[in-house]
Amino acid sequence: MIEKLFLSGADVFRLNFSHGSQEEKLDLLKTIRSIEEKYSHPIAVLGDLQGPKLRVGEFSDPKGVYLEKDQRFVLDLNDAKGDNHRVKLPHPEIIAASEVGHILLIDDGKMKLTVVEKGDGWLGCNVDVPGQIKDRKGVNTPDSVLEISPLTPKDRSDLNYMLKIGVDWVALSFVQRASDIVEINELIDENLPKGMPRPSVMAKIEKPSCFLGDELSDIVELCQGIMVARGDLGVECAPEDVPILQKTIIDTCRSKGKPVVVATQMLESMIESPTPTRAEASDVATAIYDGADAIMLSAESAAGMYPVEAVTMQQRIINKVENDSGYMKLQESKSTENEKGISKSTDVATDSITMAAKQVASSISAKALVCFTLGGSTVLRASKGRPTVPILAITPFAETARQLSLSWGVYAAVTETEDDNFDVILKSACRAALQKGLISSPDDLLVVTAGLPFGTPGASNVIRVVPGAGPACWDGVCRL
Ligand code: PGA
Ligand code: MN
Repeated sequence: MIEKLFLSGADVFRLNFSHGSQEEKLDLLKTIRSIEEKYSHPIAVLGDLQGPKLRVGEFSDPKGVYLEKDQRFVLDLNDAKGDNHRVKLPHPEIIAASEVGHILLIDDGKMKLTVVEKGDGWLGCNVDVPGQIKDRKGVNTPDSVLEISPLTPKDRSDLNYMLKIGVDWVALSFVQRASDIVEINELIDENLPKGMPRPSVMAKIEKPSCFLGDELSDIVELCQGIMVARGDLGVECAPEDVPILQKTIIDTCRSKGKPVVVATQMLESMIESPTPTRAEASDVATAIYDGADAIMLSAESAAGMYPVEAVTMQQRIINKVENDSGYMKLQESKSTENEKGISKSTDVATDSITMAAKQVASSISAKALVCFTLGGSTVLRASKGRPTVPILAITPFAETARQLSLSWGVYAAVTETEDDNFDVILKSACRAALQKGLISSPDDLLVVTAGLPFGTPGASNVIRVVPGAGPACWDGVCRL
């Protein structure tokens, strides 16, 4: 099945540590790595940490209790099983951070409580939206920033496991503020086994506190990628906020050149149906028009009846939108806006070279923009500019190639590029472009950018136009 999903268009697989055992994840990782090898095509593995999912305690009646509209209901720290009037909320930090007037949402937002009184270790609430509350149902706290680490003991254990087995991306759920990213980065530094490549960090934006002040911009700055986690975001905020927040998050990521994933309920009805609703098809298209680098599936592929059909449908919608002239115009206008800030950037030379390469590629109708990269930063710059031709990233590191699978318009190839001889480098560019199917004739042109001498990360200083036949052509023999 994973092979079928890959062949249908999946570039990244998420291992969701909210479900199942660590060992199951390792089995999946091995399967994914073997498919990557079989097709010599980088595939990214994203390990997703559950994060601090808050829950109420248990009730005397296993069926729970019905909370009537406008009744009073107390959340406290008392171990006794819950009844009609109260239940334990085993998170003193929620009680501490909640103030009169704050909203608490139970069971994915099905019930809504407002805090009307606060005592020592308890909250008196009014039931605004009634419903059946049961053992261990989830609690969302949209109004408060909690004084808790974003990493629970389970997350720390899962993170260490991810570092040990070697995932390419680590996603952190329920990020509340930029310091959460600092914390996970420190944990990765402390616990990364010797010799293992460092995974990139993705922040899942699903808490309203991410939108206070400069928080979002700081979070995007500190991590390597972002997920618009619409499932929880739509509970913590109102559903009508989600489309606008999605655009805000995508624009922030675009301006900083960080890849952004739009996730959750994209083709929800395809869990049980072989075709999506028209509204779902439109939602997928909108995420692409908004400028997302990647779109995700959750239950559709993980537990649904039509996983291959769901991936195929997303791929069909991507192809359709990317071939629409209105789409490219939209992307270009956003890039132009971002490029206005280049003179203020710290890497003016590299940014200018990247921009020029993009223009050359478009003017000569090149088949691809080829970037040599170590850590991927030059490729991210190229992707940020949304060029009209595909980007071919060439790197000596498998982990860089995999991490780049998440970025817009990037095909990555792993080749030895230690040789500083530019002819050898250009030859490997032509070979990789041919292998990826980006060129088909000896006359097809490639625009190559690189930083010479090699080994200076992030510094591009060369643009070269080469025919697909490569340096062989310069001896008068054109062949592929
Ligand atoms: P989840 O994250 O599926 O891990 O909850 C995505 C979301 O909340 O949308
Ligand atoms: Mn979530």
